[in-house]
Amino acid sequence: MANKKSKIIALVTVCGTKEASKAMKKEFKEGNITIVVDYDKCKGAGECVTACPVQIFEVVNGKAVAKNIKECIECCACTNACPYTAIEHSSC
Ligand code: SF4
Ligand code: SF4
Repeated sequence: MANKKSKIIALVTVCGTKEASKAMKKEFKEGNITIVVDYDKCKGAGECVTACPVQIFEVVNGKAVAKNIKECIECCACTNACPYTAIEHSSC
């Protein structure tokens, strides 16, 4: 009985871990452009905010968030500016 119980606990732990790692990447999509920020890597210092010429990024609760993606000019300054390679951009 105790053995069955520990198997169930182990299963719940594995599933929980899987879910947590999935949530670490946040996708922002508009039209043909997709920006993904890896929240495991993002340190929130805002280099992407400063680099983007059309203010796509802001830091919310210590993590980069992309908005108004339709304004993106696909210059790749954000991916180049991020010291932690936390940003994936579909055009860069
Ligand atoms: S590609 Fe250029 S315009 Fe688009 S989000 Fe990155 S820095 Fe901003
Ligand atoms: S530059 Fe990279 S690490 Fe810094 S806030 Fe932007 S996404 Fe996060």
